[in-house]
Amino acid sequence: MVVPYKHEPFTDFSIEENKKAFEAGLKTVEAYLGNDYDLIIGGKRISTEDKIVSVNPANKEEVVGRVSKANRELAEQAMQVAYETFQTWRKSNPEMRANILFKAAAIVRRRKHEFSAILVKEAGKPWNEADADTAEAIDFMEYYGRQMLKLKDGIPVESRPIEHNRFTYIPLGVGVVISPWNFAFAIMAGMTTAALVSGNTVLLKPASTTPVIAAKFMEVLEEAGLPAGVVNYIPGSGSEVGDYLVDHAKTRFISFTGSRDVGLRIYERASKLNEGQIWLKRVIAEMGGKDTIVVDKEADLELAAKSIVASAFGFSGQKCSACSRAVIVEDVYDEVLNRAVELTKELTVGDPTQKATFMGPVNDQGAYDKIMSYVEIGKNEGKLLHGGEGDDSKGWFIQPTIFADVAEDSRIMKEEIFGPVVAFCKAQDFDHAIDIANNTEYGLTGAVISNNRANIEKAKEDFHVGNLYFNRGCTGAIVGYQPFGGFNMSGTDSKAGGPDYLILHMQAKTTSEML
Ligand code: NAP
Ligand code: MG
Repeated sequence: MVVPYKHEPFTDFSIEENKKAFEAGLKTVEAYLGNDYDLIIGGKRISTEDKIVSVNPANKEEVVGRVSKANRELAEQAMQVAYETFQTWRKSNPEMRANILFKAAAIVRRRKHEFSAILVKEAGKPWNEADADTAEAIDFMEYYGRQMLKLKDGIPVESRPIEHNRFTYIPLGVGVVISPWNFAFAIMAGMTTAALVSGNTVLLKPASTTPVIAAKFMEVLEEAGLPAGVVNYIPGSGSEVGDYLVDHAKTRFISFTGSRDVGLRIYERASKLNEGQIWLKRVIAEMGGKDTIVVDKEADLELAAKSIVASAFGFSGQKCSACSRAVIVEDVYDEVLNRAVELTKELTVGDPTQKATFMGPVNDQGAYDKIMSYVEIGKNEGKLLHGGEGDDSKGWFIQPTIFADVAEDSRIMKEEIFGPVVAFCKAQDFDHAIDIANNTEYGLTGAVISNNRANIEKAKEDFHVGNLYFNRGCTGAIVGYQPFGGFNMSGTDSKAGGPDYLILHMQAKTTSEML
């Protein structure tokens, strides 16, 4: 019997011993910075001339790793291997598959701070954010392993004296896993292990800015005993390798987390029948957000300001769940806004290898330029009360930025910025606030700060987001506790880390035998 699931605790860095252990993790990683990483197809290492160079976004000169880059030919090779491997893997014992996840989780737990240190270097995460990303990766493996044990015998259906009926789940086939850079470990590992523990084989294409953490994770899977060919590591350009594999006739499903536009593109392309294809492809797509914290007039205003600031600026606002809109009932608007500005003034921006840094850089030049262009838009749409400056000389740094008095229909209230920028908007009353919160095409997360029971109940019904929180911030969902996924243009609401996630990677089969 496996012990019940419990989420991995976050590390307390005020304890000297933990601080030392994290610094040791950083040292370990510093010793292998700049290494080369091969593709892995059917367990074989393949090195290519063409490389993806992963750099530290806090220090562009520092190369985290040079990763071989798949092209269409190599993607095709990987597809053939994954397709053949599926013929045996689909019949493998689900318990054995779960055990591989438990073992992999244990390996990561033993090297926890090393993995977090890779995220500090490759993704620019401050210590606590990196620690949470690694903890979530562990959680996904522990949780999905247990979910598979629950699902392995199917769900009971009725039988009769003359017949025996069963309802079981079988795997789908080859899955293409396309992951984002912002939870470069957790989401990559979660999507990959969910697919494999359900009996599928995987082509893993990590985000091009964070391929090293995925290469390191491949080593963990191998050490945990995963047979060759079950997960094939094929970093490469989204448009080249991504399109090719999404279109491929042997692709059975695509598991994607990333932006709205790429998600839509995949959804559309996957719907087309290609030569030799005999199924409808399944698409699991988790996309962008434009997440709101609503503050009621009867509320803990200090909690409101703190929740807004932490949710807006944690990991430089680069979470799909980040608060990018604070909608506040007019009676308390000034007080919450002023307090949020005060709290933001205390935030430190800088090198994420330093424990004291609250906010590191943004992901890359593309992200920097996009966010800075929204800062310019914001200057015309609201009052800039804090931040607004960027510096991309050494790394891609942007100050936490607050715009006040923004109209509900303005662009910075509606479009995903994906950076440390929050817009404050005044609502006439609570109903108006909920209307504003619902006025985008997204529907991922949201939070309500209120002590009014009737308003809390109203928001539960009317605030249309996949993850709705009360009297806390809108980021930080925990696997198994707050299954995660959004409505509308935020995706297919797959609810990662939830009880029905694995089923999305399987199909149900009914068998009925006459006795
Ligand atoms: P992205 O630009 O859409 O990239 C995501 C992945 O898609 C990357 O691996 C990318 O590869 C790949 N890709 C790009 N073009 C492709 C194509 N034509 N076909 C197939 N794959 C393609 O998103 P991102 O910038 O990495 O991540 C940020 C976005 O993810 C935000 O919008 C955020 O809200 C969203 N997100 C959502 C959730 C959620 O659970 N809902 C969680 C995290 C993030 P390359 O790197 O090679 O371009
Ligand atoms: Mg990088």
